[in-house]
Amino acid sequence: MFKSLLLSQSNDKVSAQITEMDESKLPEGDVLVKVDYSTLNYKDGLVLNGLGGLVRNYPHIGGIDFAGTVESSDHKDFKPGDKVVLTGWRVGEAHWGGYSQKARVNGDWLVPLPEGLTPRQAMAVGTAGFTAMLGVMALEDHGLTPDQGEVLVTGAAGGVGSVAAAILAKLGYSVAGSTGRADTHDYLRDMGVTTIIDRSELNEPSKRPLEKERWAGCIDAVGGTTLARALAQMQYGASVAAIGLAGGNKLDTTVIPFLLRGVNLLGIDSVMCPTAKRLRAWQRIATDLPMEKLENMTSEAKLQDLPQLGKDILAGNVRGRVVVDIAGS
Ligand code: NAP
Repeated sequence: MFKSLLLSQSNDKVSAQITEMDESKLPEGDVLVKVDYSTLNYKDGLVLNGLGGLVRNYPHIGGIDFAGTVESSDHKDFKPGDKVVLTGWRVGEAHWGGYSQKARVNGDWLVPLPEGLTPRQAMAVGTAGFTAMLGVMALEDHGLTPDQGEVLVTGAAGGVGSVAAAILAKLGYSVAGSTGRADTHDYLRDMGVTTIIDRSELNEPSKRPLEKERWAGCIDAVGGTTLARALAQMQYGASVAAIGLAGGNKLDTTVIPFLLRGVNLLGIDSVMCPTAKRLRAWQRIATDLPMEKLENMTSEAKLQDLPQLGKDILAGNVRGRVVVDIAGS
């Protein structure tokens, strides 16, 4: 028997309870993993609160990512004792996820633990940090270099934002971070942000389709009006990596930035990201994310803390990344 955080639904209300689980209850799959660490992402907050229509069937185990050790495997690429990481593939939403001391999954969804990272560090990065890296890679692939000017990171004190800022700063970029939390300014400077923008500067609609050209690139975790404002402020030919919707999923804008400034809006998806790109992103994380910055942005929690943390992250009150010590819960 092992511990899982089981979500049940009754009268449209979702509640969470730590349960003693038996291996025979786990879903089908060809690899059984002993989970060491999982994390808290914005999407985990939605699942823990029964929001976003992400989970159709209950009882459910959330946790959209985990790192652990293979216990048994019928998959050609994995054997007992291998250290592995899982993000995406709708694990924690359509499939049972990492908020459990054991998980049985499709081995095609796993990648080997990246060389140079511990399971705890891989989960301190987690889906949020992995996606931030995908965003940086997309900007680079579209020609971004450090000499072009400041790169804007929105929702900078959140998980995606903190990792994006730390990576960009390490790569030699000047990083501007927008935040709604004044108490995170010192933290953001520590992550490598040199210009702090108050969230209110970006979350009011602009009256003009184009504003002063300001940003050489943008990693956007917020969406909504913030993304529309960022598009209007991009330099000629610059790109925005659209990652998140913490500020809303609507995009009310004009095509003028695309037509008159050649601005690129790059969609970033981490869930169905092909394996070759995943491996490249994890490799880059191991080399381009300073581990002391990762540690400084990370706090640790246990399974029993997740129901409250799920509320906190949706309220925008979680700073940086939260790693969940599953084995020690
Ligand atoms: P997070 O830690 O909660 O970060 C989100 C940040 O956005 C908050 O810390 C806050 O930053 C800012 N924010 C929150 N509410 C806001 C509002 N109403 N208006 C403006 N800013 C607001 O969440 P996360 O895990 O980093 O995820 C961030 C977003 O990326 C989420 O929407 C998530 O679903 C998305 N995401 C997408 C993918 C993908 O594959 N595309 C993968 C991972 C995450 P400040 O306090 O600094 O203002």
